[in-house]
Amino acid sequence: MRQHKIAVIPGDGIGIEVIEAGKQVLQALAEKSGELSFEFSDFPWSSDYYLEHGRYIPEGGLDELARFDAIYFGSVGSQQVPDHVSLWDLRLAICQGFDQYANVRPARLLPGVNSRLQGAEKIDWVIIRENSEGEYSGNGGRVHRGLPEEIGTEVSIFSRKGVERIHRFAFEMARSRPRKKLTLVTKSNAQRHGMVLWDEVFFEVAKDYPEVETDRELVDAVTTRMVLKPDTLDTVVATNLHADIISDLAAALTGSLGIAPTANLNPERTFPSMFEPIHGSAFDIAGQGIANPVGAFWTAVMMLEHLGEATAAERLMAAIERLTRSGIHSQDLGGTATTRELTQAICEDIRQQS
Ligand code: ATP
Ligand code: MG
Repeated sequence: MRQHKIAVIPGDGIGIEVIEAGKQVLQALAEKSGELSFEFSDFPWSSDYYLEHGRYIPEGGLDELARFDAIYFGSVGSQQVPDHVSLWDLRLAICQGFDQYANVRPARLLPGVNSRLQGAEKIDWVIIRENSEGEYSGNGGRVHRGLPEEIGTEVSIFSRKGVERIHRFAFEMARSRPRKKLTLVTKSNAQRHGMVLWDEVFFEVAKDYPEVETDRELVDAVTTRMVLKPDTLDTVVATNLHADIISDLAAALTGSLGIAPTANLNPERTFPSMFEPIHGSAFDIAGQGIANPVGAFWTAVMMLEHLGEATAAERLMAAIERLTRSGIHSQDLGGTATTRELTQAICEDIRQQS
């Protein structure tokens, strides 16, 4: 029996609902397989926890998480706490504390899902987001607060080490995929320091990967290419901010924010990696039981791959595709199915597979 220890942080809003659904599906997979088991440990670190204790993660919290094989995360964000506090104190504290510098976001149109984009079935992308520095380094400040001459600065930091390791990760990813194609996305025409470093290091690293076809695109231009010529992209590497934006676009083009998964990887495996659906807490639908859990299911596929459970990952992905193809959809995809109904349907399907 192969056992995996999973730290579960459901967080806030619909994060709680979809992660519970994801756990049930993983449990059904484990029971079906008979040679695989999960030991889930729940951590209540959320905005409610923050309002009660004045912090998101208790003293020694990261050390506690460090002994797990993976972290399954819902979402964080509450109307009672400013977003920049919740994001930094929980999600980014884990990403940065565990040096999860490679954020991976696959985008593909699942069967039975409608996109507003004609030709969306040609989308098969993996967006690699630099997850440890850049525009979200937290550097900057405010002076002359409240006065007419007030200034706020937001300083992006790009280190050669940080840029090189994400490019190397992206080349490895591109090489592992059938098309072996990698697109570099920056804004080096208008931003002439850090972005130029990104470009230069990319082409240095490219010399080690002659089998990977490369091209480069400015971030503004790549958004039009995603919409107009989706089949010309495969693996894409971009900075923290740019990839944040284009991966939300990718999620919308493939149907809904409710479907898309993310992995925050520490590729060296010195620390656990963290897996989460791309969507946030979605207060507008939280507590109603109608959140789409497919993003949390696909996230579980990425977690299984990372845990070395390739067969289970393939089984779950196939079950997700049967579910979406069957036409049972949640509200965000134009259906009426609840989170519970979708979860029951996929668990039942997993149990019935031979
Ligand atoms: P964050 O700041 O945490 O990224 P956000 O403001 O980007 O959050 P999300 O919560 O990610 O907002 O989602 C935006 C909207 O998309 C939600 O308000 C909701 O209507 C819809 N949505 C997101 N995820 C889902 C889901 N899993 N199921 C159904 N609808 C969803
Ligand atoms: Mg968002």
